[in-house]
Amino acid sequence: MHVVVVGAGVVGVTTAHYLSELDCSVTVIDGERAVALGASYANAGQLSYSFTDALARPAFLARIPGVLAGRDEAYRTRLTPELLRWGIRFLAQCTNRRATKNTVAMLQQALRSATLMHELHATLPFEFSYRQAGKLVLLASREEIAAAVAGVELKKQYGCDTEIVDAKAAMEIEPALGDAGDRFLAAVYSREDEVADSKAFCDGMQTMLEATGKVRFRFGQDVQRLRQRDGRLVGVDFIGETLDADAVVVCSGVGSDALLRRVNIRPSIYPVRGYSVTLPPGPAAPQVSVTVLGRKFVFSRIDGHVRIAGFADFTGFHTDSDGERIAALLDTAREFAPLAADYAAQEQAQWGGFRPMTPSGRPFVGPTRIPGLFVNAGHGTLGWTLACSSGYDVANAVAGAAH
Ligand SMILES: Cc1cc2nc3c(=O)[nH]c(=O)nc-3n(C[C@H](O)[C@H](O)[C@H](O)COP(=O)(O)OP(=O)(O)OC[C@H]3O[C@@H](n4cnc5c(N)ncnc54)[C@H](O)[C@@H]3O)c2cc1C
Repeated sequence: MHVVVVGAGVVGVTTAHYLSELDCSVTVIDGERAVALGASYANAGQLSYSFTDALARPAFLARIPGVLAGRDEAYRTRLTPELLRWGIRFLAQCTNRRATKNTVAMLQQALRSATLMHELHATLPFEFSYRQAGKLVLLASREEIAAAVAGVELKKQYGCDTEIVDAKAAMEIEPALGDAGDRFLAAVYSREDEVADSKAFCDGMQTMLEATGKVRFRFGQDVQRLRQRDGRLVGVDFIGETLDADAVVVCSGVGSDALLRRVNIRPSIYPVRGYSVTLPPGPAAPQVSVTVLGRKFVFSRIDGHVRIAGFADFTGFHTDSDGERIAALLDTAREFAPLAADYAAQEQAQWGGFRPMTPSGRPFVGPTRIPGLFVNAGHGTLGWTLACSSGYDVANAVAGAAH
C-alpha cells in the first residue's frame, strides 16, 4: 500500500513512522526544503502530557475585551471575516462543559502519546535532547489557583499525577525561581512531563526512516490538489506532476485548511502565531520547564540553552510584527526572571511559527468522508506533545481502512 503524507513537520514525520511500521510504503511531501521548517522548528519543546487545558474556557471570555483592544501583551488580533468565523466557533467552546470535555480528550491523547514516546525513544538511534524535566505552571492569582485545583482533581481521575505546590515548594523544586519568587503564589507541578527538541527529532527520524527503504521524502513540492476519481482519493497533484496513492494523509499544519477546502472539508484551522528566542543560560537558568500561565510564555531548557517561547497572535499569516513581538517577549521574560537567560548574548536565535489551531484546541485525526483521504492536523499548542498518539491513530486508521 502506497501512502502519501503531505507535510514533514513533527506530525507528518511521526505519521510516516507508524505507517512504515504497518508495512506501508510512504512518500512524505513538503513544500519546504527540509523537515520541520514550519511550526515544528523552534517550539518550546515541552512534551506537556499533563497540561492539556483548552484555551477556550469561560475564564478566557473575561480576557477578550483586553485582547481585542490590544491591552493584553500576550495576544494580538487583526479582525478579518476568517477570524470572525473561527472566533464564533471558538466562543461556542468557551463553556465549562466543553472546556472539560476538550481538556480530558487531549489529556487522554497526551497520556497515550507519553507511552508511545517512551517505547519509541527506547528504539531510536539518535539524540534529540530528550529528558524528563518536569514542569511547573506558575499561578499568580486566586482565580488561577482555584481553576488549577479543579484541574488537578479532574486529571487525577484519568491517571494524571500532578499536584499544587506553594511558591516556597516551587522554589525548592526549581531553585532558579528564587529570581521570580515574588511574582507567583503557587504552581502546578507535573514531575513526569518531558522536554525535547522537535526539529532534532524530525531530522533524526528522516534519516532513520529513509534507511528503512520504506519511506521517501520529497521537498520543495507544494501539493496543489488532492486528486479524486469516482469519489475516492487517488493521489496528489503538484506543479507539473501527479503522484498516485492508495491513501493520502494531510499533515500540513496551517496549510491543511487550504488543501482540504478544495474538496469541501473544512476543519477550521486558524494560524496562531507564536515566537521563541533561544539563548545561552543565565546564572539562574531553570532546569525544570516553567510556564507563566497568565502571561502565556514559557522557559524550557533544551540542549544546554534556554528557550523562551510564547504569545498568541490571531493576525492571520502576517509576519510583519515579528521583530516587535519578539522584543516584547524578551522584555516580558527579562522582567519576570532577569537571571534565567543571558539576554545580552550575541548568540541568540529568534523565531516565529504558526500554531494550527482548531476552535476546540483538539486536532482532527482520522478518516474523512472521502474514502482514501485522512487528516492529522490542527494540534494547536500541543503538536509535539500529541504527535506520537495522533500519528499512531491515523496510521492504524489508514491500515484498517485497507482491509
Ligand atoms: C511558539 C510556539 C511554541 C510551541 N510550543 C510547543 C510545546 O512546547 N509543546 C508542544 O507540544 N507544542 C508546541 N507548539 C505547537 C507545535 O509546535 C505545533 O502544534 C506542531 O509543530 C504542529 O506540527 P505539524 O507537523 O502539524 O505542523 P508543521 O510543523 O507546521 O508542519 C506542516 C508542514 O506542512 C507543509 N505543508 C503545508 N501545506 C503544504 C502543501 N500544500 N504541500 C506540501 N507541504 C505543505 C509545511 O511546509 C510544513 O512543513 C508550539 C508552537 C509555537 C508556535
